[in-house]
Amino acid sequence: MTTPAVRTRARTRPARAAREMPDALWTRADLVVTVVLLAAGVLLVVLAWFGASDTTDWDSQMSWTALAMIGVVVACAGVGGWLYRGFARVRVEARAVRRSVGRRIAARTAPAAGADDAVDRRRVTVAGMAHHHRADCLLVRGKPVVAADETLLKPCGVCA
Ligand SMILES: [Zn+2]
Repeated sequence: MTTPAVRTRARTRPARAAREMPDALWTRADLVVTVVLLAAGVLLVVLAWFGASDTTDWDSQMSWTALAMIGVVVACAGVGGWLYRGFARVRVEARAVRRSVGRRIAARTAPAAGADDAVDRRRVTVAGMAHHHRADCLLVRGKPVVAADETLLKPCGVCA
């Protein structure tokens, strides 16, 4: 025998699970539409099966076969719509994630307001390079840089 507190908790759990989950890929309406279409499709196939089972007349069996095919189409439409709605939501979420990541990257790489004066404007190069770069250029990062003579070298196409 369970205590009243345990019974109460057990009763509230399904109620919480039955609530709409905001992160769920499908809504309850999607599930209902899919189940209704699947049930209708299966019902049509079963109906056609029983309708055609006692007949030997070709025309009659063709009519029942057509009904079964309609049932299959209805069931496939239910599943197809369910998948389409799921894929559409995945696309929307993926787009939102890409935008969010893009904003975060832009916020990290964009110089802060007034920080333009603090940017190192020295031009540097590495021995053997034909171009001069900003000190923070990816092409010279981690290399032994020296101050560049801008009159002798070409500007870097990446950081110029
Ligand atoms: Zn460069």
